[in-house]
Amino acid sequence: MRNERLVEKIALGRIRTLLQNAEARTTERNDASKKLARRYVGLARKIGMRYKVSIPKELKWRVCKGCGNFLVPGVNCGVRLVSSHGYAAYVCECGEERHVFYKKAR
Ligand SMILES: [Zn+2]
Repeated sequence: MRNERLVEKIALGRIRTLLQNAEARTTERNDASKKLARRYVGLARKIGMRYKVSIPKELKWRVCKGCGNFLVPGVNCGVRLVSSHGYAAYVCECGEERHVFYKKAR
């Protein structure tokens, strides 16, 4: 049991590092970096599946479901506030929308 936990911890650490790198690459705004960023996201997902750990909440919503972009506002996604519903809509360049609630759900 102990070992399993350790493996999970390491896997989670790798996922975090990969996604941090993905963010850094995305911010560079060039095609080669963009490809790398997507690769990092793909690897992070694979590690997650392989070791059955999920991507941490605070990072999960930043990964586009449609194309695997790591969303960085102003670089590859736009942000729109939908105050009537209490969420921010992150719109990826591929057209995929991600809703992030900033009001607590009732
Ligand atoms: Zn996308």
